[in-house]
Amino acid sequence: MPELPEVETVRRGLETPLLNQIFSTAQIIDPRLKLPISSDLPEKLARSKIIELKRRGKYLLFKCQKNQQITHLLIHLGMTGSLRIFPQNTPLQPHVCIDFLLENGQLLRYTDPRRFGVIVLIDGDPLQHKLLAHFGPEPFEESFNAEYFYQQLKRRRVPIKNLIMENQIVVGVGNIYASESLFHAGILPTRLGVSISFEEAEKLREEIISTLNKALEQGGTTIRNFTNAEGNAGYFKQFLYVYGRNDQPCHHCNALIQQITQGQRSTYFCPNCQK
Ligand SMILES: [Zn+2]
Repeated sequence: MPELPEVETVRRGLETPLLNQIFSTAQIIDPRLKLPISSDLPEKLARSKIIELKRRGKYLLFKCQKNQQITHLLIHLGMTGSLRIFPQNTPLQPHVCIDFLLENGQLLRYTDPRRFGVIVLIDGDPLQHKLLAHFGPEPFEESFNAEYFYQQLKRRRVPIKNLIMENQIVVGVGNIYASESLFHAGILPTRLGVSISFEEAEKLREEIISTLNKALEQGGTTIRNFTNAEGNAGYFKQFLYVYGRNDQPCHHCNALIQQITQGQRSTYFCPNCQK
């Protein structure tokens, strides 16, 4: 699944080619996504100019303008979605859901074999939309500070791994980065939020930011089906310390990395380095 660094990598890759371009129309090839693509989307989007390409959590937000009206095209890549730019005469491939045609002769193609993605057009404030309204701070913003994080954790009797993956606490910490951040912070993923000291919360916050930053520098993790906007796989995977390394020796202490299941997701940790 594309996680925050992958989505940010996609955003950066698309920003230059798409900024100030104008949608001529869109062709819905197959509307069946997690939320079906609305049939009036092509009509509403036509002649809109892309004036900003933003990200909130794992959602891409295309800020569009038409006749002084602002709308936002909201796209979530789901498990296997990808957005690529092609010339307009490019033949259809399998799993294409929608082609956004641009006045410059190119098209932005959304492909999604597993169809967990979301594509909606929003008229009002996108941050108040039901898909985004409950989101907590972005990991790279000031509002995600140690005191805030500590206060959020200390009132919860829920494993810390599950808490850092809650969008209400901080957005965009997916499964891979949750395990990796907890390893670098030396905290067992099964510890309850209430047991985390201020110093541990501060360390964990730093490791979350640092892990996401490292992944961003590498262009996201190399995971199945994910390619960034240029179609290149990311290179973060070779820097993973625990994720996907069960029964392999810890890079710090040689103990065998263990795997458990938390909230239906796999968690990886070192039983020696993490307390
Ligand atoms: Zn270890």
